[in-house]
Amino acid sequence: TAPELPPMVLMLPSPGMGHLIPMIEFAKRIPLHQSLHITFVVPNAGPPSKAQTTVLQSLPNSISHTFLPPVTFTDLPPNTKTETLISLTVLLSLPSLRQTIHSLSVSHTITTLLVDHFGTDAFDVADEFNLPKYIFYPSTAMSLSLFLYLPRLDQEDRKNDAYRTVLRNAKRHSEADGIIENSFLELEPGPIKELQKGEPVLYPVGPLVNREVEVAQTGPNGSECLKWLDDQPDKSVLFVSFGSRGTLSSNQTIELALGLERSEQRFLWVVRSPYDKVVNASYFTAESESDPFDFLPNGFLERTKGRGFVTSSWAPQPQVLAHGSTGGFLTHCGWNSVLESVVNGMPLVVWPLYAEQRMNAVILTEGVKVGLRPNVGESGLIERQEIASVVKCLMEGEEGKKLRCKMKDLKEAAAKTLGENGTSTNTISKLALKWSNSNKSNVTN
Ligand code: UDP
Repeated sequence: TAPELPPMVLMLPSPGMGHLIPMIEFAKRIPLHQSLHITFVVPNAGPPSKAQTTVLQSLPNSISHTFLPPVTFTDLPPNTKTETLISLTVLLSLPSLRQTIHSLSVSHTITTLLVDHFGTDAFDVADEFNLPKYIFYPSTAMSLSLFLYLPRLDQEDRKNDAYRTVLRNAKRHSEADGIIENSFLELEPGPIKELQKGEPVLYPVGPLVNREVEVAQTGPNGSECLKWLDDQPDKSVLFVSFGSRGTLSSNQTIELALGLERSEQRFLWVVRSPYDKVVNASYFTAESESDPFDFLPNGFLERTKGRGFVTSSWAPQPQVLAHGSTGGFLTHCGWNSVLESVVNGMPLVVWPLYAEQRMNAVILTEGVKVGLRPNVGESGLIERQEIASVVKCLMEGEEGKKLRCKMKDLKEAAAKTLGENGTSTNTISKLALKWSNSNKSNVTN
């Protein structure tokens, strides 16, 4: 009787040499360990290339190969991407792969099907023959980890309704006759110049900010904090506020409190209840839920009395930023807060939380360089020492001085662009003229 043939492993490289070469190197090493025969089953969209035949023909006896009949594409849109073509070649080759496995299994015991990361459609055929399926990933573990994470990314980001809503609106931006942008050239030179090269026409009209809120609107707290500011030295107070809806975790709130305390600077803090303490209201009494002060560290208010002013929920931010005693702003980087800081020449500690605020933080720290960004520590929190040192640096340090200078330049540029004959003013005037003309033509039409 003929000696029994060794079990066979099928390897299916997707088209191209980049996957084939390392897969062959792997294949060469297998028979050194076990008596196994390897067969490369090679799909193609045309005749085998010279490179493919050369490398496959030079292999030892334990490795053979067979070219599947070339597939033909019909009805492909022009400019179909390479990745799609590669994967489609495998997909269209499945019937011939099925046939090949059938005929090979007459004489061999096939034990495994190995594909690469473009060949997973062949898993269906492996399943039909009950073959274990393996993937040869020819690139870095780093890109493999991204690859494996892609489905979740797609699920979580692209499938959520906010993504679709934002995308739908973004697509329709190109239908507009113009886009009015609350920014100005000196604040975002790169993006504004770039956008002005394209369509729709960009109209930068900023910085448009509310210079004053009715203090009455903010309740007794509002006038109290302005009164407190009146008694503080020039530019000595750090204003700390996270916009209209920014909140921190309870641990982060504690770190911030202790950081402000350790900085030895004066501060005016609009404090909110931590998000992890108010979500499930049933855990807390209504009273503690409505009083953010309950989440501050023990003794914090007493220890910082006089030097710090803590208010709950809402401050008259425009007036606070315009006040002579305010010397810095720790902000969540909401764009309104940023522009209000710019028109008041207020240097920043940036602490982005949500929406586009991380991008805003980068504009501020790396673009116009008017802000310092504290680092997140190993605990996942911005820790008290870090907060203390960044705040100190902004309020007293040399770097703080530089940021203040840059902010002063921006403040002047903002005043200029919004002044008589300034760019933003002229842009608004141009728009008004356009709109009055188009109104007239609408009427006459
Ligand atoms: N604001 C205020 N007092 C507060 C908190 C916020 O007057 O205690 C105002 C602030 O001046 C700004 C707006 O609320 O005009 C917040 O807008 P921003 O874009 O900064 O942040 P958002 O709240 O949209 O995240």
